[in-house]
Amino acid sequence: MSRIAYVNGRYLPYAEAGVHIDDRGYQFGDGVYEVCEIRDGALIDETRHLARLERSLAALEIKAPRSLTALRFIMREVAARNRVRDGMVYIQATRGVARRDHGFPDPGTTPGLVVTAKAIDRRIGDARAAMGVRVIVTKDLRWARPDIKSLQLLPNVLAKQAARERGAYEAWLLDANGDITEGASTNAWILTAAGVLVTRQADQAILRGVTRTTLLALLAGEGLRFEERAFSLDEAYGAREAFLTSAVNIVMPVVAIDDKLIGDGRPGPLALSLRGKFHGFAEVSSA
Ligand code: PLP
Repeated sequence: MSRIAYVNGRYLPYAEAGVHIDDRGYQFGDGVYEVCEIRDGALIDETRHLARLERSLAALEIKAPRSLTALRFIMREVAARNRVRDGMVYIQATRGVARRDHGFPDPGTTPGLVVTAKAIDRRIGDARAAMGVRVIVTKDLRWARPDIKSLQLLPNVLAKQAARERGAYEAWLLDANGDITEGASTNAWILTAAGVLVTRQADQAILRGVTRTTLLALLAGEGLRFEERAFSLDEAYGAREAFLTSAVNIVMPVVAIDDKLIGDGRPGPLALSLRGKFHGFAEVSSA
């Protein structure tokens, strides 16, 4: 089946789906994006993803390309036209097309909007979680506002590539203080040697992951203790368990950081249990 993409008001076959070379997303990375999981044909945590999209747009003073109601419709339409039951929907909004000049274009410029959907076989993630993944640690080279989900992902691209070249699944990013901020496209968590679940506080140094937010609510609901604070690389090396979270990975156990095994080198029971509980707690919005 050929794939269909929504591009600036039209549903197009992939071969014809393109944007203008003067789109500011292409020229400057001047735009934002969102990724929302699709599971059993339903959107997971759609409300939080759309709220974050609005926040990212507002932070960069980009006009919303469509109303939230229209966006909800387009996301479902793209998922349906591509027959995606399990996978993800991707939304990208840019400041639009304008003659190349760094400063903002004329306020009347129409923002750009692209929506795509991709099927992902759930068994792949589940098999990966059963084994656990390895992460490497590399310097966090990003700008000062990674809390905005912008299209500018070059440091994340380089970090992920470094992970791949070392046979790892993800790169955890290290700040100037020797603390882990987050992963190249995921949030980072550890269960410390003392048994405290820790993830970095969501200040401007990390993206406030929707999966992270939902998981924190789940933990609070279950009366499980956690701390939102920076943790050092040494603390991570000595952790009892570690895992990463994102819309695509849900909760993914980490079994090694660099060459150090975490715990006994197998997925931790807490990570696996949280992975199992996640969708019973997240918002599920059907078509
Ligand atoms: N951190 C970064 C840098 C990301 O790019 C992502 C997702 O793309 C996440 C964390 C996880 O966010 P979410 O749980 O909303 O998918």
